[in-house]
Amino acid sequence: MFRRFGSRVTIIQRGAQLLPREDEDVAEGVADILREDGIEVLLETSALGAVRDGDSGVRLKVRTPEGESTLEGSHLLVATGRMPNTDRLNLAAAGIKTDEKGFVRVDERLETSVPGVWAMGDVKGGPAFTHISYDDFNVIRDNLLDGGEESVKGRLVSYTVYTDPQLGRVGLSEKEAREQGLDFRVARMPMKRVARALENDESRGFMKVIVDAKSGRMLGAAILGIEGGELMSMVHIAMLGDMPFSTLRDAPWPIRPWRSRSTTCSRRSSARCRENLGEKVRDRGTR
Ligand SMILES: Cc1cc2nc3c(=O)[nH]c(=O)nc-3n(C[C@H](O)[C@H](O)[C@H](O)COP(=O)(O)OP(=O)(O)OC[C@H]3O[C@@H](n4cnc5c(N)ncnc54)[C@H](O)[C@@H]3O)c2cc1C
Repeated sequence: MFRRFGSRVTIIQRGAQLLPREDEDVAEGVADILREDGIEVLLETSALGAVRDGDSGVRLKVRTPEGESTLEGSHLLVATGRMPNTDRLNLAAAGIKTDEKGFVRVDERLETSVPGVWAMGDVKGGPAFTHISYDDFNVIRDNLLDGGEESVKGRLVSYTVYTDPQLGRVGLSEKEAREQGLDFRVARMPMKRVARALENDESRGFMKVIVDAKSGRMLGAAILGIEGGELMSMVHIAMLGDMPFSTLRDAPWPIRPWRSRSTTCSRRSSARCRENLGEKVRDRGTR
């Protein structure tokens, strides 16, 4: 936003990629878009110290892979993550256990180490989003008030990174699917194959869906592109309904979010056709 207002913006990231939890190609896609918009992205760079520079300036010393240097600017936004403030609650006095980072330990029903005491939201660790906190409330309400057996196990987590264009994410990333040793395939399509993206003159980014090799069910998706959050929600709904990937892919969508008619391969099309369309299908293909 500030870049688009005309400010010079530099992002300093200690790790080798932005969005460290995302797949490398997704993080690179986001960084490429930011760079294209004129933002300087410094990876593997540590902040060493900041000092005031006159009345309105800041000088920040950084260590980059090329050596130390100093950045100058008018403002410094520090976003280094959030920590629970449970250290101030003396939870040990009540026997409530926390993990090494201070998050309250809960079981899958969100009950703490003390029966009858529950924890919800950011303070229990895990995905830190408003909708997850609200879902935690639903789980606890059912368990506490209705004697239910609601659990957060296997909860399908989705979120949007509000870059422009957005990154919509649901379920497993490719990295997570690999870590879990799953047998999966990856379908990938650039946004420049999406008619609506072309019509809106914003065709940067790509879609990527992780598909279970045996069942054809979707395990997760990353949609970096125009309205990526909205498109991701469609995938999220399809996943909740246990819809096979091929059903979503082949449906005759009136708004054509996925691809334009002229670039549609039929159900019987060759792998070549799909490849030509940028529907890069890895492993054994998605059909
Ligand atoms: C900059 C930023 C942007 C975000 N953007 C998004 C987004 O776009 N989408 C999304 O889904 N999520 C977003 N989040 C995350 C989201 O805000 C949190 O996941 C959500 O607010 C968690 O809800 P919660 O009720 O668990 O905690 P909180 O909303 O943090 O509420 C905890 C409350 O407890 C109070 N409190 C703390 N300690 C004590 C104490 N000792 N005694 C009494 N009260 C206490 C706090 O003051 C606070 O009011 C964002 C977070 C940040 C910081």
